[in-house]
Amino acid sequence: MLFDAHIHLSEIPKVEQGRPLPASVLTSAHDPEDPSLSLGDPAVLCSYGLHPLWLDAPGRSLETLVKLSASGQISAVGEFGFDFYHGRDREKEKKQRDFFHAQCVIAERYRLPVVLHARRGMAELFNETTLLKKLSAVIFHCYPGTAEEGQAFLKRGVNGFFSFGTPIIKNYPRAIAALKRLPLDRILFETDAPFQPPHGREMSLPIDIVTVYEKGSELLSIPRPELEHIVWGTAQGIFPGRL
Ligand SMILES: [Zn+2]
Repeated sequence: MLFDAHIHLSEIPKVEQGRPLPASVLTSAHDPEDPSLSLGDPAVLCSYGLHPLWLDAPGRSLETLVKLSASGQISAVGEFGFDFYHGRDREKEKKQRDFFHAQCVIAERYRLPVVLHARRGMAELFNETTLLKKLSAVIFHCYPGTAEEGQAFLKRGVNGFFSFGTPIIKNYPRAIAALKRLPLDRILFETDAPFQPPHGREMSLPIDIVTVYEKGSELLSIPRPELEHIVWGTAQGIFPGRL
């Protein structure tokens, strides 16, 4: 069984949405009207969160997040986090931090795992260790850090999981080094479809999860069926009773 830890199902082209999924997925919604939130497909777990780059987008609110958490419609809160790729200033930092805190509190209240997004925001995440430790599980989507940083989160008591996607098939050295050195029972894989295209393509697609696992299997020297089995067990541990 394949598990894709991070995808945006409703943002992939309609024709692709019609195809059977190659994996069970955790799809991230940002829009409260996102159709995946009411899909009812057991292979599709949903998360909802306020992405740091679109905190002011219409219709998105912490109230919606509370409603979805309370109704049991979502299996995780996210993606949310820190993004200073396009620069930073005091005001931006404060706003992202305030929304980060609020979403952690909601995740804790409803015992939901979180899906974190960090671009140039690892230092900010380290500052939030106290909050992160209270959460049932913390998925670092498209893990941007080093193995040492990942180990440091674990050592400080964060129940962290590190998800790797198309950067490993694009041979990004940092992602590959982290994948190889983090504990195997903390590893997940993802496509982030449609947002992280493999070389020469315009978007990533759900089917790319197969290539990501193949590459993972090669890099870790673990046969693919065995790796699938291990990661599936990890996902079941994060989402008890949901997978
Ligand atoms: Zn994403």
